[in-house]
Amino acid sequence: MTKPLEAIFFDIDDTLFSTSVFADKARRSAVDAMIRAGLRIERAEAIRELEEVIGEFSSNYGGHFDKVLDRLGPEAYEGHNRAVIVAAGVVAYHATKWRELKVYDDVYEVLQWLAGTSLIRGIVSAGITIKQAEKLVRLEVLEFLTPSAIFFTDQVGFSKSNGKLYRRVLQRLKLAADRCLYVGDNPLHDIDPCNSEGWSTVRIRRSGRHADEEGATKPTHEIRDFYELRRILQDEYGVV
Ligand SMILES: [Mg+2]
Repeated sequence: MTKPLEAIFFDIDDTLFSTSVFADKARRSAVDAMIRAGLRIERAEAIRELEEVIGEFSSNYGGHFDKVLDRLGPEAYEGHNRAVIVAAGVVAYHATKWRELKVYDDVYEVLQWLAGTSLIRGIVSAGITIKQAEKLVRLEVLEFLTPSAIFFTDQVGFSKSNGKLYRRVLQRLKLAADRCLYVGDNPLHDIDPCNSEGWSTVRIRRSGRHADEEGATKPTHEIRDFYELRRILQDEYGVV
């Protein structure tokens, strides 16, 4: 028996692309660029210091590279203008972003397939609005999504763990919870709240820092890649 489905929503980070691998590459190339620009420190130590700063000040903090230089002290960049070293890091970071921010191949293929079905294809994503929106643009998946179905927590005003977020999404699009599917990697922020709101849920367990975590509830489905998602949509929901 197939269950009727009207909409499918996706998380972005570690669902559409490997946030962890991408961030790691971008940070390493930033450190290399800072060393080339005159920073005198071992690469491994600079990377360690940067990771510590990110851990302490959050990944959305705006002055990571400056903070690394604060910690290392002026002797680490003596004879150089520190702003130039920071700028070298920032430029390298953004260059890596342009180059490396890509969806997994299976994600691209299945989103493209979904765009040919009658399902609404949306995003429910947490984080700084402009940064999350920029990711969708860079990932080049906007053409496969339903423009009115893209939601960022900062704009809606509820965090991902608050059920009201998902109720607001349903209200805006005039959808019923039992006709919606949410796909995400975080058992606590993606799966548990959607389960308690009566959505069907798909946990993607492929990479990222939540891969080994368990939530309070089980997802309706668990997948390793989007090909498995396509099979579930075809076999259990009759999506064609
Ligand atoms: Mg995620």
